[in-house]
Amino acid sequence: MRRSPFSFADQYVLPGHSKRIEIPVARDALGAQFGLQVVVIHGRHPGPTMWVNAGLHGDEIAGIHIAGRLLTRVNPRTLRGTLLVVPVVNVFGVMNQTRYLPDRRDLNRSFPGSQRGSLAARIAHLFLQLVVQPCDYGVDLHTAGSGRRNLPQVRVSFAREEAVEIARAFGPEVILDSQMRDGSLRAAATQMGKLVLVYEAGETLRAEEEVVGRGLDGIRRVMHRLGMVDEAPPPPEKEALLCRTSQWVRAGRSGLANYMAELGDTVEKGQVLAVITDAFQTARVRVRAPDDGVIIGRATGGLVTRGDALYHLARP
Ligand SMILES: [Zn+2]
Repeated sequence: MRRSPFSFADQYVLPGHSKRIEIPVARDALGAQFGLQVVVIHGRHPGPTMWVNAGLHGDEIAGIHIAGRLLTRVNPRTLRGTLLVVPVVNVFGVMNQTRYLPDRRDLNRSFPGSQRGSLAARIAHLFLQLVVQPCDYGVDLHTAGSGRRNLPQVRVSFAREEAVEIARAFGPEVILDSQMRDGSLRAAATQMGKLVLVYEAGETLRAEEEVVGRGLDGIRRVMHRLGMVDEAPPPPEKEALLCRTSQWVRAGRSGLANYMAELGDTVEKGQVLAVITDAFQTARVRVRAPDDGVIIGRATGGLVTRGDALYHLARP
């Protein structure tokens, strides 16, 4: 029996076809129209429905590269199931190279949103209704926030066994059981019963091949694991480390930071991770690991303020 067309907004996508559809969101002061652009790839054969989005935070460019390159790798004639790809959710943020929307709201703290709320609330609501609602699975692509850098990692809720299996298939360096954050896409989509992976890797405003390639390979492996495609890159040699908890290690004083530990390093409790000095090298404060663990995130700035998060330390 032939598969039904996929209905999206006011349009239909036939099995074995893909279509780029723009949903109007708002106009700017000069009247230019901004929209949410979604590529719907409706496989010829039945299977799961999955979305991949990037650019909830407008300065996190790596995910936009990943989503775009994914489009060149998926063939609607051989795909089983349906893939919805949204390379940029926060169009305004990307244009201005900033995390936020023009009203300084963080889109990833604005879910589930509402139809008549702020611009952030409206985009969040639209995204949930149109993109998340029809899906079984989702991948939300991020980098570390400004001034930080992340080891390629996948964040899921370990409460759902299937989530850990799919995260393993992705093949990151670390899989972190992370708490739901209020207002995040992951929290709202999980509430709707969707299984969401968050990929966090690299830093803002950059698209390094290691980060982009690893993310693209990971999504293709997840699609293979779900039976959507026949081919995927082989799994990485090193199996992902499962971490159940993480904490920030902060600067004990303000000053010039010399980082001694790198992303991916396994460190022991008491090990010196960084030394903070003043401009005259008269004062030195050592920042030590409060526990054993692996470094999954670090600050990049050479000048720090007391209390700044310098390292993100995760533990099995
Ligand atoms: Zn982000």
